[in-house]
Amino acid sequence: MGTIQEERNYDFLPLLAEKEEYNNYGEKIKGTLELEIEAYEDIHIGTGQYIQKDNRFAKECYKDIDGNACIPASSLKGAVRNISACVSKSCLDSADGKCLSRKKQEKRNRKENTPYRKIEKPCITCCTYGLDSYASRIIFSECKSTSSDFLIKKINQPYTPSKTEDGPKLYKNEVKNEEIEDNLEVEVMKKGTIFSCRLIIKEITIEQLKLLLFSLGLDESFEFKVGGFKGQGYGKVKIKAKAYNLSDSKGRKHIIQGSLKEFASTYYTECKDEKCTNVMNKMRTIMKPKVVEYEG
Ligand SMILES: [Zn+2]
Repeated sequence: MGTIQEERNYDFLPLLAEKEEYNNYGEKIKGTLELEIEAYEDIHIGTGQYIQKDNRFAKECYKDIDGNACIPASSLKGAVRNISACVSKSCLDSADGKCLSRKKQEKRNRKENTPYRKIEKPCITCCTYGLDSYASRIIFSECKSTSSDFLIKKINQPYTPSKTEDGPKLYKNEVKNEEIEDNLEVEVMKKGTIFSCRLIIKEITIEQLKLLLFSLGLDESFEFKVGGFKGQGYGKVKIKAKAYNLSDSKGRKHIIQGSLKEFASTYYTECKDEKCTNVMNKMRTIMKPKVVEYEG
C-alpha cells in the first residue's frame, strides 16, 4: 500500500463467545470500600454545555455542586463494569461495555433469526452491576475532590474509526501525542487531582467480589480511563482502597486473607479458563500501568 499505518491509541480484546448465566448461590458478602482515585492524566467528563473563559468557548467539564472537580458515579461504574464484562463470561456484545438488555437480545434474535442463546438469567456482570429488572448490587458514590482547579486544553475532534474487530475496544495507556490541528477546546480536571469515593456492596458472592476488585485495578496489573478523549491522552485513573469493611451473613469479617491486592489478583490467578486468561493477558498489555511524571 505504501502508506504507514497510523499507530492506534486503542486495541481490541477478543470477545469471549461463551456466555454463562450466573447462579449467585452461597455465602454473600456485604460492606463498604473507601476508594482513593488519582487522576494520572487530565480528565474531561462532558456536560454537553460550553463555558466561556478568557473570551474562548470550551466544552464544559462536570463539577460537583460546590464547583469542585468530581467524577460522577456513573462514569466510574461504567468503566469498571466494562472491565468486568470483558473478563467474564458476560452477555457483553459490543464495545460499549454493556451487556445486551433482554429486549435488545430478543430484537436481534428476531431480526437475524439466529440461534443466539437467550440469557434467561443474568451473567455475573449483570448480577453485580444490574441490568433491566436486575438491581445493581453495588453503589458507587460521586468521586469528590477538594480541587476547584480546571484547565482549558486544545484537542483534536475525536476521530471515531469504523469498527474493525468484533471485541471490545480498550484505550492504550501509552499514547502517541498527536499534533493538535483542530481548535477544539475542552475544560479538564487536572492531572494529580485526588478523588475519594465510597463503594457500597450489597450482598454479592466471593466470586463477584473477586471480579469487582480485579476490575477496579486493585491488583495493580492495569489502569483504565474514564471520561472523554481517551485516545488523546485523557482520563487515566489509578484506584487505591484506603480502607474496607466487609463481612459475611454471620457478621464474620475475615473475608480477605492477606492484602487486598493479593485478593484482587485471585480473579486472574484462579481462572481456569484459558480463553479468559488470554483476554486478561491482552488487557494487561493494552492497559499496562505507566509511571506517571508530574511536571513542576
Ligand atoms: Zn450480562
